[in-house]
Parts: sequence; structure tokens; C-alpha cells
Amino acid sequence: MSQAKYVFVTGGVTSSLGKGIVAASLAKLLQARGYRVTIQKFDPYINVDPGTLNPYEHGECYVTEDGAETDLDLGHYERFLNVPTSQANNVTTGRVYQTVIENERKGVYLGKTVQVIPHITDEIKRRMRILGESGDYDIVITEIGGTVGDIESLPYVESMRQLIWDMGDSNAIVVHLTLIPYLNAAGELKTKPTQHSVKSLLELGVQPDVLVCRTEKPLNQELRRKLALFCNVQSNSVIEAIDLSTIYEAPMAMLKEKLDKAVLTKLKLKTTGEPDLEQWKEFLFKLEHPKQQVDIALVGKYVELPDAYKSIAEAFIHAGASNECKVKLTYVHSELLTEDNVANKLGSYQGILVAPGFGNRGIEGKLTAIRYARENNIPFLGICLGMQCSVIEFAREVCHLENAHSSEMDDNAQHKVIDLMEEQKKMSHYGGTMRLGAYDCELKKGSLAAKVYGKTKISERHRHRYEFNDAYKAQIEAAGMHITGTNPMTGLAEVVEIPDHKWFIGVQFHPELKSTVANPHPLFVGLVKASMNS
Ligand code: GLN
Repeated sequence: MSQAKYVFVTGGVTSSLGKGIVAASLAKLLQARGYRVTIQKFDPYINVDPGTLNPYEHGECYVTEDGAETDLDLGHYERFLNVPTSQANNVTTGRVYQTVIENERKGVYLGKTVQVIPHITDEIKRRMRILGESGDYDIVITEIGGTVGDIESLPYVESMRQLIWDMGDSNAIVVHLTLIPYLNAAGELKTKPTQHSVKSLLELGVQPDVLVCRTEKPLNQELRRKLALFCNVQSNSVIEAIDLSTIYEAPMAMLKEKLDKAVLTKLKLKTTGEPDLEQWKEFLFKLEHPKQQVDIALVGKYVELPDAYKSIAEAFIHAGASNECKVKLTYVHSELLTEDNVANKLGSYQGILVAPGFGNRGIEGKLTAIRYARENNIPFLGICLGMQCSVIEFAREVCHLENAHSSEMDDNAQHKVIDLMEEQKKMSHYGGTMRLGAYDCELKKGSLAAKVYGKTKISERHRHRYEFNDAYKAQIEAAGMHITGTNPMTGLAEVVEIPDHKWFIGVQFHPELKSTVANPHPLFVGLVKASMNS
């Protein structure tokens, strides 16, 4: 198959219905049937990418192998499919306009008035087609961010309509995710909001092929028939998506509702046989039948919005299942931690993770948490800023480098144990200028990290500006914190650990971004294991 087929996923009625999870679940089912599938997401906001967004806005920024800063839904895609995504998988309105405006300046449209239609829509279509034309995929699932009817989604819906027209029936279809609210007072599920959202799509020239209906109660036959009739879809194309206890149940729930068959039938692809989901089922079984529980504290400053730490929370779910252990993850606000209350606040946890982050807020609390973990032999993992803080804490408390700091927090600090590299000092723009994406790392033989990974050559994803300052390496190592992972090209420190401690690792990279159901990340598996024994 040279040209991939397209499944568009749109959302109606409200946001937060879980389009990303539905898209990922459908992709999983199609992948388990042997199709080569990828997912791309088009976001209607004007930021060029989510890299400059505060985590409170859209949750975590997910980083791909090739260094794209993307929407957190791409994390779900990778966790479900175990296939890496890339720059091409996430496109924003800002990125589309940037290209069109650059083209205009270059004279590409010379003489023409540059307009939303056709210039913006053509650019959206070009980007929608990139993955489909790569030859790497049979099916491309394309999630349109936002809700149908939003002003900013209009160019995407129009581009989708045109692409479906270009590609012809059965080569591109629309799965519309919608809400069937339950009215307690009436004791009824209501279909009217869905009918209206389908009408909004129809006004824009798009007839959905499949309806996926989010609901708190099961849909009966009568209701399914009504939805099919009034929304003009076949009865077997009304799919119930009932609330689940874990997102990892979603592929099984969609299988039961035959979403994969509805989609394949519309695409005129083979529907015989069943998807091979053995590995997925084994994971689910372990997830749902833990033999023990550990309590782990995640210390960070964005704790009010758990989406800010999405990939970390999911990595713990994968690692828990692989250890047949339920990980109860509790978010502890770093701003509220002090020397006086730390024992009280962290004393009941078997493991501590200090999260990534930016800026000064909550730093002293993070240092306090690290000191507590270090002095009390509590298994500890520090990620990115968490690793940098573990170096600062060690420098201050063990090396007695008073006021050691990162130049991010205090540019006048006497001992900048974490500092900017020369090339970063030259950057004048914030967007896309961090150390981003996958870099190799070599682990020291015999180190805890090498033991945990079971190898010494690894590659992990990055998203940071500041680095361990090598000027302090000898002093810090002599005092007992070892650099056990370095970038083989630049010599930059990637991993620190304290051999005298039970399990203490800090990593400059983001291991959570590579943890998937099929491949739980060794550092999370290791931390959970160590916490189970502590
Ligand atoms: N703020 C730190 C830096 O830029 C750490 C970034 C992070 O934790 N992702 O280097």
C-alpha cells in the first residue's frame, strides 16, 4: 500500500472527552491487527509549539526523539503504540501560519492575496499528508484538537473536508467523539447535544462515519438506533465509550464495541481475524492484580494540575505493573516543604521522585526533599531539574560549598554547580532553543545505573538549558556523588548517583518520555523495586 488511508478524529459538545485516548486505542487495535499506524495531532492554538507554554495551561510538554516539543497526547500515542513520534506528528496553527508567512516573504505567492482559503488550508493539508506519503504507514489517525464549532478549528475542519474529497470515499473517514450526558433529574441519557454537534459538522460539509459516545451509563439499543438515525450513521457505527477505571482499559473497551471493525469496514480494509493483544492483556492483568503496594512521593511545584506530570505518572503505572505492585503516587507541593515539616510530610513514603521544572519557585523545598531522601536512605530519582537539585544539595551539604546553586536560580552564586554552556549563552529566543530530543549517554560499568539498564550504551530525551558544571566534578566525586553517565560526544554529565546510598540516581534527561506499556522504563522499574524493598 503506498498511500496511507486516513482516519480523522474530531470532538463535539465539550473538550476533555479524551480524543487522544480514543485515537490511541483505535491505533492500538489496528496495530494489533498488523497495520502500520501512526497518529498526528493538529492543535488550533497560535503558539508555534507548546514548548513556551506554562504547564498549567495544557499540562506537560512532551518531547519526541527528534526534539519536537509537543502536546501531551503524543505521549499517549507512544505509550500505547510503542512507536516513536516526530516533528511531523504535532502541528499548531502558529506553525502553519509561520510557514505561510515565511513563504509570503520569500515571494512564493507573488501577486496573490494570501488568505485562509486556500493558503492556510493548503498548508494544513500538506502537513496532514506528510506522514501518509512517507510510505511508512498504512493508516494515519489525525486528531483535530479543540471542539467542532470553535472559530479556531474552522480551517482544520475545512482542510479535512477537502482532503476527504481529494482522497475519495473509503480512503479517509471521520470518527466523531461526542458526549451523551445523563440527566439525573430525568433519569435519562440525552442525545440532543450529539445531534447538534453532528449538525455543526454537516454545516461545514462533513458527515461523520463513526460516532464514539462518551457516557457514564451504558447506551441501550433504542438510544443507539436513535443516534444512528438522526446523525445519519450506520447502527454498528455508534460506539459506546463508557467511563473506565484506567485509560489502559480503553483499547479493550473499544474492541468490545467493535470500533476497529467499524473503521476498517468504512475504509474497505480486511476485518477478518482478531487483533493480537496478548501482551496488552498481560499488562492489564498485572495492573489490576497487584501483589503489594508502595507509596511514592512526587515532589514538584505544578502539583495542582496532575497533567503537568503526565508521563511520570504513566511511567509509574508501567513500572508498577511490571513489578506486580500498585504504585500509589502522591503529589507533594515543593513550595510547602520545609526543614521543620519534611519528616512529617515525606516520612511515610518508600520512594521519592523530584520532578523536572523551571525557575526558582519551590526550589528550596526540592532541596529539602532531596536531603531527606539522601540522609534517610530512601530510594530517590531526580529528573532534570530534580537531578540538578540533587547536585546543588550535595554540593551545599556534603561538599560545604555554601550557597552552591544553578545559574538559572542565582546568576551571582559563588558556586554555580549547574550552569549554562557557552552555546546557550548566545540564545536570544526562548522557543525551541533548549537541548531537545535524543542524545546518547554512556554509563559507567558497574554503576547502579548500568545495573538498572542492563547495558552501558543508552539514548534518552532531553529538555533543558542548564548543565552540570564540570569544574566541580572532581570535588563532588571525591565527596561521594559519582557521575556515572556522560554524553560520549560532549562529555556532559547525564547521570549522578551516590554509591553509599541504597538507591539514589539523578538524571539530566527525561526517562518518563520513553516508558511505554511494552517497554516500562528501567529507571522507574528500578525505583519501584527499590521502594518495594525499603
Ligand atoms: N530548568 C532546568 C534547565 O533548563 C531543568 C529543565 C527541566 O527540568 N526540564 O536546565
